[in-house]
Amino acid sequence: MEKERLKEFNQILLKMRQDILEETGRLSDHFQTGGERNIRLSDPNDRASIETDAGVLLRLGDRNRKLLIKIEDALKRIRDNTYGICEICGEEISEERLRFRPVTTQCIKCKTELEDEEKLLKKKTTRWPR
Ligand SMILES: [Zn+2]
Repeated sequence: MEKERLKEFNQILLKMRQDILEETGRLSDHFQTGGERNIRLSDPNDRASIETDAGVLLRLGDRNRKLLIKIEDALKRIRDNTYGICEICGEEISEERLRFRPVTTQCIKCKTELEDEEKLLKKKTTRWPR
């Protein structure tokens, strides 16, 4: 990939990382406030709804954590000059796909094949006798 393109994707990925870190910071603030409120509440119904909120926040944290790892990986590939190359077939991933999903490591062809295999596997599994 051209140097200018790499620089551009480097910026996109850094921005993504920044956004997640900011969002995570806000979420943990919110989480702490929710925790304090929880102590003061006596109504069990209200407590349940706050616990649900906390569950959502935790899940979002996990998802963001996974995305952060992918972003770090992509930034490393930019440094290694292997960014935008499919990890399965070694072909270049189309720029259109990278713009849509900057952390991707597979070209659309390999990704589609993988998904087809997964679908096939699921079909086989459901056919197995219990
Ligand atoms: Zn591929």
